[in-house]
Amino acid sequence: MKFSTKAIHAGQEPDPSTGAIMTPIYQTSTYAQSGMGEHKGYEYARTGNPTRTALEDCMAALENGRYGLAFASGLAAEQTVLSLLSTGDHLVACDDLYGGTYRIFERILSRYQIQTSYATAGSIEEYEKAIRPNTKLIWLETPTNPLLRLVDIKAVAEVAHRHNLLLVVDNTFSSPYFQQPLDLGADIVLHSTTKYINGHSDVIGGSIVTSNKEVYDALKFHQNAAGAVPGPMDVWLTLRGIKTLGIRMRQHAENARIVANFLSEHPRVEKVYYPGLASHPDHELARRQMSGFGGMVSFQFKGTIADVDRTVRRLKIFTFAESLGGVESLACHPASMTHGSIPREIREARGLTDTLLRLSVGIEDAEDLIADLDQALQEP
Ligand SMILES: *Cc1c(COP(=O)(O)O)cnc(C)c1O
Repeated sequence: MKFSTKAIHAGQEPDPSTGAIMTPIYQTSTYAQSGMGEHKGYEYARTGNPTRTALEDCMAALENGRYGLAFASGLAAEQTVLSLLSTGDHLVACDDLYGGTYRIFERILSRYQIQTSYATAGSIEEYEKAIRPNTKLIWLETPTNPLLRLVDIKAVAEVAHRHNLLLVVDNTFSSPYFQQPLDLGADIVLHSTTKYINGHSDVIGGSIVTSNKEVYDALKFHQNAAGAVPGPMDVWLTLRGIKTLGIRMRQHAENARIVANFLSEHPRVEKVYYPGLASHPDHELARRQMSGFGGMVSFQFKGTIADVDRTVRRLKIFTFAESLGGVESLACHPASMTHGSIPREIREARGLTDTLLRLSVGIEDAEDLIADLDQALQEP
């Protein structure tokens, strides 16, 4: 099956008892058992829930993996992957990361003497150089957040496997529609399903997919033992969102291309970051590794932070808010919002300055989005 057919059908059969075409919301905490050790595959809803199983199987199919697991948030999925580590272990991560991921590494893992080294996102040599005898995994985001640099997944997978390490890829920004990391050699792919996967800004959720049975068993054990599972209603909403993932991603990317071109020519814009622009330093890699360039566009404003604040206050269709990947357009100021937990010196050294704005380009009519940006960017 091709992508959108899987999105609509994988893991989702008409309900065997009633024929209901949509997977029911199994709003239950426990299941009747007919006798000792005899049940229909479900005992207690932390361990398993049929609505959740449908989402887990659908996500596995979309990422071309064998096993899926769903979580109550993207960070809960991350924490579960990190449960593969023990005290004294080490990991290597790319340096342009979601702020919450950085916060887990620096403020939670560090308390268990698990250290993280950071490699410049695009530099394959730096990942290899950072590896120590106690390194257990490499962690990537590509495209990165918020600077939209690309990391060559295949090249880093080769480094990881030469050293017997697992490669984890956070695929939230491109979604499986545009990029399938397992096919490029990653061992584990994870998502904040809060973003494009659900796509309607009404659920917090996370997902992990892997084809490695041993890894899956360890993660599944942790999912049940630590318990960060999603509720059936959230899972059902996410399944509903997934059905239109392909068609949404095509429109996000088309609108983002138009917005990136508009901003590139605007006198108040210093620099635009969008992998689809021929001027983007990783454009060639993006063409090779992704089947589309996604819906995220960042840009550097010419002016002061006060100018940036004035601009975001004028926006009418773009909403000034954290998050991304919903049908509606959002604008965010990474330095004070999503990446506020990263110390200023570290942020600025990475190019994440106070005048950087990040847009999650929605699927409204592109003409309206351009008109909104144009009026907001007017000189005072
Ligand atoms: C939002 C996000 C997360 C965290 O997910 P939550 O669902 O908010 O817990 C992780 N990685 C990336 C790239 C994100 O954008």
